[in-house]
Amino acid sequence: MSVSDYRTTVRTLLGAQPSSTRELAHCRGLVLAEEVIAPVSLPPFDNSAMDGYAVRAVDVADANQDNPVELPVTTDIPAGRTEVPPLLPGTAHRIMTGAPLPPGADTVVQVELTDGGIERVRIDGSAPVGKHLRRTGEDVIAGSKILEPGTVLGPAQLGLAAAVGLRDLPVHRPPRVLVLSTGSELVAPGEPLLPGQIYESNSVMLASALREVGCEVRELRFVPDDVSAFHATLAPELDSVDLLVTSGGVSAGAFEVVKDALSGQGVEFTKVAVQPGGPQGCGRYQGVPVVTLPGNPVSALVSVELFLRPAVLGSLGHRSVHRRQVRARLTSALTSPGGKEQYRRGLYRPRLGEVSGEVGPSGGPGSHLLASFAAANCLIAIDKETTELAEGAEVDVLLLD
Ligand code: AMP
Ligand code: MG
Repeated sequence: MSVSDYRTTVRTLLGAQPSSTRELAHCRGLVLAEEVIAPVSLPPFDNSAMDGYAVRAVDVADANQDNPVELPVTTDIPAGRTEVPPLLPGTAHRIMTGAPLPPGADTVVQVELTDGGIERVRIDGSAPVGKHLRRTGEDVIAGSKILEPGTVLGPAQLGLAAAVGLRDLPVHRPPRVLVLSTGSELVAPGEPLLPGQIYESNSVMLASALREVGCEVRELRFVPDDVSAFHATLAPELDSVDLLVTSGGVSAGAFEVVKDALSGQGVEFTKVAVQPGGPQGCGRYQGVPVVTLPGNPVSALVSVELFLRPAVLGSLGHRSVHRRQVRARLTSALTSPGGKEQYRRGLYRPRLGEVSGEVGPSGGPGSHLLASFAAANCLIAIDKETTELAEGAEVDVLLLD
């Protein structure tokens, strides 16, 4: 199966996450499921944009430094004052930024153009009607649409929702994902290793990749290569997950626990024409979508990049689900297996003022080479027809940051 067909298969499997309302504080990075209408205008009332004096423009029209105008100050209007006495002709109210403009006033003289007086104020400059005023509805009009469905909720969008008085928003609910790593050789980091054992590294890696795209993840880490142990671990979890992601046990050897446990149970195991990450499986087990990733760490993480990440982002309502892709010149020659797309870990350097930058491989193609993945910032995509690329050749690069 081709990479693009398998990507579609996984995307279809995940469908769309249902929507639910969430408190603003828990919406960051989620996608709006419905449009949002403003319940109030912004600003909700005419208010001052400056600390100064609310006056009538006609009363200060002739004021300048040689010919100041002096007005009696009737009252102070700090921000938050809710009952404001009207301004009488020939008087001033001392007003602060964000405080409501008193009825009768039509302009604000900033404090810097005055002597700052409390009982009386000397005003050294004129102010046209509307100066330093923030008018009702200048930003948002009550009843208008302020956010579209599909909007990714970041700081500015959440601030806007709060500013119009909303406590929560309708969002696509993050999928609850169970990451289950299999392998009798796996040991918890921090514990002593016996010969033949390795530290379990896929669960933290896969869980963080999935959290990065908005999943709520739980990990079960040391499931041995034993079908009945696998089922015993999984059975109590199935009710409470939207997606099961397994690692390991899907290739062609003996003791392939995931394959043995889920074959013929709604999960299809496939060879995808890609290196790394060829052995894949997905389907529904007892109603729960399942994606089974190969155990080699690099294969597992590249599989997330190619298949799971876009599927999860799509199910969460994101319009843009792919990594940013650029063209770059190779700094060294590369070979690639024919008949398969290859994704090499690479180091991309943009070149100032040029459309394409340059890229070199970070380590070899081996799917156990995690250190060179950790040093990489991109994947170099090589199509299945290409078997050799010379230094200086142009390639597609998927940027990982
Ligand atoms: P498998 O797909 O189970 O045959 O595993 C392929 C390779 O990846 C083997 O060398 C495993 O030891 C290694 N591997 C599998 N699962 C993990 C894991 N969770 N953490 C680190 N290495 C793993
Ligand atoms: Mg294994």
